[in-house]
Amino acid sequence: MEPRDIDGDLTEILIEEEQIHGRLAELCRRIEADYAGKDLLLVGVLKGAVMVMADLARELKHPIAMDWMAVSSYGSGTQSSGVVRILKDLDTDLHGRNVLIVEDIIDSGLTLSWLIANLKSRQPESVEICALLRKPDAARVDIDVKYLGFDIPNQFVVGYGLDYAEKYRNLRSVAVLAPHIYS
Ligand code: 5GP
Ligand code: MG
Ligand code: MG
Repeated sequence: MEPRDIDGDLTEILIEEEQIHGRLAELCRRIEADYAGKDLLLVGVLKGAVMVMADLARELKHPIAMDWMAVSSYGSGTQSSGVVRILKDLDTDLHGRNVLIVEDIIDSGLTLSWLIANLKSRQPESVEICALLRKPDAARVDIDVKYLGFDIPNQFVVGYGLDYAEKYRNLRSVAVLAPHIYS
């Protein structure tokens, strides 16, 4: 889906699909170098990270395993609740594995700090983060994002996996949702 297909729902295109792919390719070259000769398990956080995961995984010239977790932190609104629940856990035993968490966006960082602690408690060899987007608020919590796509302004964005009330995930670019849609 292109921005023109939902004309009026968006105020601004922040990141075009080509920019996303270009940046993911750069991140993949670093990941390949960092994990050379090592096993790598990509852990995607459903549902927002589906597009990042699909493109990142296929761009990587490195054998990987893939697993998924679903956590809830937002409900259907636009504000983080700070309460994290596991809706679907991993199928994989993390013991001795090199885990790379693949996330769509870090906003308050509450979800991710909770997730890192949770995964680290399962005796993995390592846990690192790859996130496509990060908002300025995230700087207030101590999260070391090893592979970051883009820092974006503090606005509610949709597209490339990111939804509002389950809509807009199939938009190819990342765009700012028009406030009249959610207010
Ligand atoms: P955090 O706990 O870091 O505040 O938020 C984590 C989750 O909230 C993200 O994985 C994402 O699902 C959702 N989220 C945060 N900011 C946005 C945004 O601007 N747009 C959308 N669609 N979801 C967001
Ligand atoms: Mg997410
Ligand atoms: Mg959502």
